[in-house]
Amino acid sequence: MEVTKQAHKAHVLVFPFIGQGHVNPMLQFSKRLASKGIKPTLITAQYIFKSMQTTTIQTQFGPSIQIRSISDGYDDDGGNHPESIAAYLDSLRVNGAKSLAQLIMKLNEEGDPVQAIIYDGFLPWALDVAKQFGLVAGLFFTQSCTVNSIYYHVQRGLIQLPLTGPDSIKVSVPGAPELHPLEAPSFVHTYGSYPFWFDVILGQFFNIDQADWVLCNIFYDMEKEVVDWMAKLWKVRTIGPTVPSYYLDKRLEDDTDYGLHLLKPDTTLCKNWLDSKPKGSVAYVSFGSAVELFEEQFQELAWGLKNSQINFLWVVRESEQAKLPVGIIDENSRQGLVVGWASQLEVLAHEATGCFVTHCGFNSVLEALSLGVSVVGVPQWTDQGTNAKFVEDIWGVGVKAKVDDKGIVQRKQLEECIREVMEGENSEEIKNNLSKWKKLAKEAVDEGGSSDKNIDEFVAYLAES
Ligand code: UDP
Repeated sequence: MEVTKQAHKAHVLVFPFIGQGHVNPMLQFSKRLASKGIKPTLITAQYIFKSMQTTTIQTQFGPSIQIRSISDGYDDDGGNHPESIAAYLDSLRVNGAKSLAQLIMKLNEEGDPVQAIIYDGFLPWALDVAKQFGLVAGLFFTQSCTVNSIYYHVQRGLIQLPLTGPDSIKVSVPGAPELHPLEAPSFVHTYGSYPFWFDVILGQFFNIDQADWVLCNIFYDMEKEVVDWMAKLWKVRTIGPTVPSYYLDKRLEDDTDYGLHLLKPDTTLCKNWLDSKPKGSVAYVSFGSAVELFEEQFQELAWGLKNSQINFLWVVRESEQAKLPVGIIDENSRQGLVVGWASQLEVLAHEATGCFVTHCGFNSVLEALSLGVSVVGVPQWTDQGTNAKFVEDIWGVGVKAKVDDKGIVQRKQLEECIREVMEGENSEEIKNNLSKWKKLAKEAVDEGGSSDKNIDEFVAYLAES
């Protein structure tokens, strides 16, 4: 009987864009699907596949999630060799589409046919491959609905770029608060910069009307009205937060990490150091997987942290470590610890952590909201400024640091912001808001919660199709 049941499991390819902020939520979504009887296969580029610690992955997922690779055209060295990001993205599109089609045929031959592809919005060509094979196509958004709605409005010519006129011009989409141009995603307010990324983000909407599902990594309460508006256009469902169960509903007790770090985390070092610090005393600082800070900004952050005398745990990726000024970390790492990569969820969940100084990448914000950690937003580019606006003004879970006329957050400002969220006048209100959001996040993924029901609906659809 068991064999028959297995044979009927729907097989879904889950295909994130290459980047930690894309792999994490889509891998976590795969785990949710697996817990509901779906058979997910995560797709990565070959160079990531080769460098993955496969033992970790097997331990983490057991046989429930397969991982297969496709070619991006740079199978030995990944993104290191193409002459530009634009060249890499082009190669990924051309080689990836071909290789994805070959993989689907191979899986068919192996007796493991695929029913659906859930593809990252940054990889819209995967929809064409899905349609070529008559598969269900589910678009997965890793950014907020407001940000996606703004991009949609730009792509359809409903917001005209460049934004011109006086400062009073607002960026406005249905259901979302009006935004000052500088609160809109950077590709919108600095129109013309990073043209290849601009193509990627607008590219999400060229064929969206053909997607069978649009899955958003938020929970409904975060952006109700925007979701309702988007749901008039497409079959939109909120399925987040895709934070490992252990931190939310405890449904899967051993689900304590996303499970696929592209950089190796210093887990034990962080834990031992945090264990030695008093409750709520540490500012955790991280700018995610991709931001490269300007030298001046880096210096201001470093001295702001040092001068504050507040304990800090700072993730500085190896590629950024040359910017660290001498004297920031004392020999015994008493006040501060710098690591190349952390297990972020473990740090956020640790009782010593008192706030999160972040670039406001969408996953980081969602994790802070779901785990109840107050935020100091130091956004740099892409959607981060919009996320920081929501952190401060809409969700009320932190503050956005002010920049000077060169766009730099000065050391004093950083120190003030950290103090404000940890012990300032508004810190109680921020904590109350955090308790509310944490509860709502948990309720959304709990059995029968809004996101859980939406995933059930998707699973039932696959069972019938
Ligand atoms: N992350 C991590 N360790 C770190 C820094 C980040 O595990 O030291 C994870 C973090 O939990 C999040 C992802 O990497 O899930 C970063 O995604 P985000 O959208 O916040 O930023 P991006 O890297 O895409 O700019």
